[in-house]
Amino acid sequence: MKYVLVTGGVVSGLGKGVTASSLGVVLKACGLRVTSIKIDPYLNMDAGTMSPFEHGEVFVLDDGGEVDLDLGNYERFLDVTLTKENNITTGKIYQSVLEKERRGDYLGKTVQVVPHITDAIKDWIESVALIPVDGKEGPADVCVIELGGTVGDIESMPFIEALRQLSFSVGQDNFCLIHVSLIPVLGVVGEQKTKPTQHSVRELRALGLTPQLLACRSAQPLLDNTKEKLSQFCHVPVANILNIHDVPNIWHIPLLLRSQNAHYSILKQLDLLSIATPPDLEAWTRMAETFDNLTDSVRIAMVGKYVGLTDSYLSVVKALLHACISCSLKPSIDWIAASDLEDDTAQLTPEAHAAAWKTLRNAECVLVPGGFGDRGVRGMILAAKYARENNVPYLGICLGMQISVIEYARSVLGFERANSTEFDEQTPNPVVIFMPEGSRTHMGSTMRLGSRRTLFQTPDCVTSKLYDNPQYVDERHRHRYEVNPDAIGLLEEAGLKFVGKDDTGKRMEILELPGHPFYAGVQFHPEFKSRPGKPSPLFLGLILSAKGQLEAYLHKHQNGS
Ligand code: GLN
Repeated sequence: MKYVLVTGGVVSGLGKGVTASSLGVVLKACGLRVTSIKIDPYLNMDAGTMSPFEHGEVFVLDDGGEVDLDLGNYERFLDVTLTKENNITTGKIYQSVLEKERRGDYLGKTVQVVPHITDAIKDWIESVALIPVDGKEGPADVCVIELGGTVGDIESMPFIEALRQLSFSVGQDNFCLIHVSLIPVLGVVGEQKTKPTQHSVRELRALGLTPQLLACRSAQPLLDNTKEKLSQFCHVPVANILNIHDVPNIWHIPLLLRSQNAHYSILKQLDLLSIATPPDLEAWTRMAETFDNLTDSVRIAMVGKYVGLTDSYLSVVKALLHACISCSLKPSIDWIAASDLEDDTAQLTPEAHAAAWKTLRNAECVLVPGGFGDRGVRGMILAAKYARENNVPYLGICLGMQISVIEYARSVLGFERANSTEFDEQTPNPVVIFMPEGSRTHMGSTMRLGSRRTLFQTPDCVTSKLYDNPQYVDERHRHRYEVNPDAIGLLEEAGLKFVGKDDTGKRMEILELPGHPFYAGVQFHPEFKSRPGKPSPLFLGLILSAKGQLEAYLHKHQNGS
């Protein structure tokens, strides 16, 4: 196994994840099989308990792993399916060591950070790197490891030490370290400053790791003398100093890396030149350039709870982008804080209320994404009602589907207090109820997580046609509540159709509203499996319908063209 380690220096938020996944794309384009590992040095076991407000979206894997959103970047960029083991956290490592300690595996020894924690990290990396993630047999050629945080952080020290030992044990030809850093520009003269990078490389070298390549982030392209200075002080050849300056969209980054021959430097270091092919990034180039040249756009209202930080819905945003690009449209996402649509806001902050409604009315389609807790729920119900009554295309994901059901029960069945028991335990009409897959008494591990099969109840529904599969779809889940099976009869009689269910027939997975241009709710999260060039069918349906092209598309598709 060959390892490419990506570390970061100077400041956080440099786009290390995008850099690392873009390097993976370039290596994959050279005919190599690539896997990846993300190390998050925090103590949490996984990202499942972290707030999307603070940390961005929790990404969900096929195996139910709740992981850092960077794993989503890897899956999308490399078109792979990762496992929860591909995300290492301090919590996971310590737990595995402490479990062994309790079992008595250390035979009376003192258990220490070095060697026990560092050994556990090395073992974890070496075994996970072997898991095939691209659907093929056998291990990948290269494993890209991204170390989260910034070099020098106390938390990442055991990882740095373990990686140093790993680099030594696997040998020079099998280890390539790329340090991502920032080159700021200061003062009126606008000089590109190399000192912060010099310091962070020095710090890395003091810890026993020498970068073979630097990836320098900057607003403008690096000047030649900046590169020379970096080379001299950081002990890295000029040819190995990559520059990631600002680009119009992130799909340009693999192209930028290739244009600087990043693949050559890495392949040379890893002694892979003889088996690699010249990088073929034709499809990427087309995608990146198409995106730059889009002129028409589609206005999408995203009505959610965590609208302050767009990373909270990163995969939804990416899935919209994939769908829009395949329709040659630029997504124009209008974020609406769901609570701004509520009647109370009209009293308290009338301008915010008016602005939110104006934005909603202006949108060509409405999306209510997943979420937890009751903040903004009343506003989401109003948005779903507006979309349903005004024939505006609507996609409700997870919470968004539950919202549709509550709204339909209230407005059409006349159950004014219909609700989910998540928001009102005393509701006389619990149309959404707690339906865990596991224990009912424990809060932990009660989520229905990961890939589950949905069976279409009829091939004659829009969703089945969009998926181009009359039988089933496998999508990822992350929820505790579901549509109450006892409420299905009444809801269906009143016109709402549950066209996708799980294999027991008790869990409602997909709802549609016949007669509406596009009104779909899904209990699963289709955004996690959307890929550039392979958009999620539901997002595609939403966008096509927003432009009045859905019927023509389905017609064309059904006729096999
Ligand atoms: N809060 C809802 C549930 O737990 C929806 C979850 C979600 O949207 N991911 O079922």
